Amino acid sequence: MRGLTRRAGLALVLIAVAPAAGAGDSDPDYGLAPAKVADGIYVLWGRQEALTQANGANIANAAFVVGSDSVLAVDAGPTRRYGEQMLAAIGAVTDRPVATLVITHHHLDHSFGMAAFAAAGAEIVIHAEALPALDRDSEILLANMNELIGPDWLAGTAIGAPTRLVRAPETVDLGGRAVRILAFAGGHSPGDLAVIDEATATLIAGDLVFMGRAAAVLHADIPTWLDQIDHLAAMGWRRLIPGHGPLVGAPAELDPLRDYLGFVEDFPRRSHGRGDSPLEALMVPLPPRFAALAQIEAEYQRAIFSQFNKFDRLDTATPPPPE
Ligand SMILES: [Zn+2]
Repeated sequence: MRGLTRRAGLALVLIAVAPAAGAGDSDPDYGLAPAKVADGIYVLWGRQEALTQANGANIANAAFVVGSDSVLAVDAGPTRRYGEQMLAAIGAVTDRPVATLVITHHHLDHSFGMAAFAAAGAEIVIHAEALPALDRDSEILLANMNELIGPDWLAGTAIGAPTRLVRAPETVDLGGRAVRILAFAGGHSPGDLAVIDEATATLIAGDLVFMGRAAAVLHADIPTWLDQIDHLAAMGWRRLIPGHGPLVGAPAELDPLRDYLGFVEDFPRRSHGRGDSPLEALMVPLPPRFAALAQIEAEYQRAIFSQFNKFDRLDTATPPPPE
């Protein structure tokens, strides 16, 4: 198993996700209900579940910030249908137009609803490093999504083209309300954006922060990610909206995330260094402190395979020529 190929690893990753079940509604409804968490800040809470036909892949949080001129949305959900229903949910809160959609990163549960916002005339902002990943992975992920959640949820879903790429922090004025977009490369994913609303000191962190759910590390560089979490923790926010899980009220609440990421970096590295296979690594019981995390079994299995693949690639990388 030591020589497990990337393709085999990907296959294992895919079967770790729960299969679709039952017949779908031809016009399924996500039942999105914006929850106000601060003045002008609303969250659409995703479920701490796997992607299933029952939940239509509504597993990640999305949010929006209402200014006096316009609305800035953060993430678009997993399907065009989600994006359309999110726009309707925003419209029930405010009549201001959604001028900007910030896609925090390329992962499908955050990004695949973007075409609905493009159709509504919003500017679509994404990290420059996220675009190649979106272009590379979208087609196969759409096909896999079709198997997992079924065609009814996915109707009309196509990956729209982002209209603005970001690599450095910038400020968007929503009309008397300054919202800052922060850019992070190579942590959770190739390119992550976060948003901070200065008026309420609310940080919308995307998948740089997972709460109560095992963090997804398939595209991560964990040491870089941990540095980015330290940076976010020191920003002086009053509340943080994570990509998955409930509201965070203080930086110390990020410690369990740091603990899990540190374990998922260090344990497979040591196991790989001893010559274990991924399956041998998976036979070692997880420390009980991680047992309560949602999706721990599937995410941990994925983490072990992706980390072993990474260490295998590092082992076989050609050393640099002598200077
Ligand atoms: Zn993600």
